[in-house]
Amino acid sequence: MAPGIFPVANATVPFWRTELHEIDEHRSTPELPAEQDIVIIGAGFAGTTCAYYLTQDEFTVPSITVLEAREACSGATGRNGGHCRPDLHVGFENRKNVKGLDAANEVACFEVANLQAVKQLIRQERIECELEEVTSSNVYLDEKQALGAKDNLEEMLDLGCPTAMMVNYYGPDEAEKVSGVKGAKAATTFPAATLWPYKFITQLLSIVVDRGVNLQTNTPVTMVSSTADDEGFWTVTTPRGNIRAKKVVFATNGYTSGVLPEYKAIHPVRGTCSRIIAANPPAERSRIGSLVPYYAPKLADYQANRSDGSFVVGGAWTTCRFKHTNQWRDVVDDSQLVPAAEGYFNGYIERTFNGWEQAETTVDQVWTGIMGYTEDGEPHIGKVPSKEGLYICAGFNGHGMPLVLLCAKGLVKMMSDDCDFSQTGIPSLYETTPERLQATAVI
Ligand SMILES: Cc1cc2nc3c(=O)[nH]c(=O)nc-3n(C[C@H](O)[C@H](O)[C@H](O)COP(=O)(O)OP(=O)(O)OC[C@H]3O[C@@H](n4cnc5c(N)ncnc54)[C@H](O)[C@@H]3O)c2cc1C
Repeated sequence: MAPGIFPVANATVPFWRTELHEIDEHRSTPELPAEQDIVIIGAGFAGTTCAYYLTQDEFTVPSITVLEAREACSGATGRNGGHCRPDLHVGFENRKNVKGLDAANEVACFEVANLQAVKQLIRQERIECELEEVTSSNVYLDEKQALGAKDNLEEMLDLGCPTAMMVNYYGPDEAEKVSGVKGAKAATTFPAATLWPYKFITQLLSIVVDRGVNLQTNTPVTMVSSTADDEGFWTVTTPRGNIRAKKVVFATNGYTSGVLPEYKAIHPVRGTCSRIIAANPPAERSRIGSLVPYYAPKLADYQANRSDGSFVVGGAWTTCRFKHTNQWRDVVDDSQLVPAAEGYFNGYIERTFNGWEQAETTVDQVWTGIMGYTEDGEPHIGKVPSKEGLYICAGFNGHGMPLVLLCAKGLVKMMSDDCDFSQTGIPSLYETTPERLQATAVI
């Protein structure tokens, strides 16, 4: 594949890709169609759900082709931690301070609504992806951070924030017992879900293909014309030929600037994840189904307990976040592990949880994946500025599972009804604007 900000060949194999769906390398037609109403670039969570909502009304299905550089769901969605875990309180304070109380509440409530919508969609479409409703936990090991979390939650309660009412807080006396994490100084718990993300998205994609969408895997888009032609068509270029399209949706997450150069505000960030098996688990298990241990600000892992008794654990940021930035920031190569993170997950369970010291764990698989981090920490959704007919749904900052679905639904409303962003139900902070494309900040 072309060098630059594009998906690479021979990606590491995540646990989720050990059971492949028949659609994995599907091509609906041997050749690409010459012309389409809509081309969607990317067959991950965002691209698939955009296609799903665009084909909801069986009487007005537009012609749609989904172009995917590698296999179906082979990007971040097929490589993540298997969590749909809304952020009810962690990102709130910063948003409130920078953008105001209403904006902060809007985002937190949107995350809760997404969790609900994901569960509903999976049930409605009878998707078998090991969906499990769990109690998730943020666990604080740093005393200062623990106190900060407590103050933040109390402030949220004083302000009447709806999502704060859904959070339980445990102080130093209870945190270790509730979470099972050694040395926990505080913990919060709240509703979340775990699932098999690849199974979720490939089954949804299969429904979309049955509705008539043309899926073309192993078909990287190398370029999209910088202007539309006289008839309003954009040219989408691939090594297998071009497609003229009235509308193009960029569901390309961390790779967006490869095909839409003005989106340098979305950075590819390489994350690490693993699957861990315990040969000798204790008889009495931790009650927490999923959790994030925070060791210090910006240093955390994340963990989902699977029904087969294994753990999916990701992060390893303590080994590389500040010391080895070049190994993860602006990196698109998920065919390699992050060198500084190699070996991190060995003994993770034993050193993290009370009662698991003799668990005899082995790290079954380690993989990497490319996330899309934005300069201001919010996704970019909506009309690409100054380019009539181009739309974006990308930049989910390693946290797309409780965001993507209703972003895709809102974007499709914009595309179908030609409505204003403010009528989509998507948080106002997510609207892509020329100003946001110029923003620079810290990742
Ligand atoms: C290791 C890791 C752990 C994570 N853990 C979690 C978690 O537990 N919870 C959570 O909420 N989020 C998590 N995330 C983030 C989450 O997976 C993403 O936010 C979400 O999946 C984004 O979906 P997407 O469709 O936007 O992106 P993707 O799934 O990356 O889809 C984009 C697709 O576009 C394709 N593409 C890109 N460029 C081109 C091109 N030029 N031509 C054709 N196709 C192209 C890619 O191949 C890819 O398939 C994690 C991510 C990683 C990598």
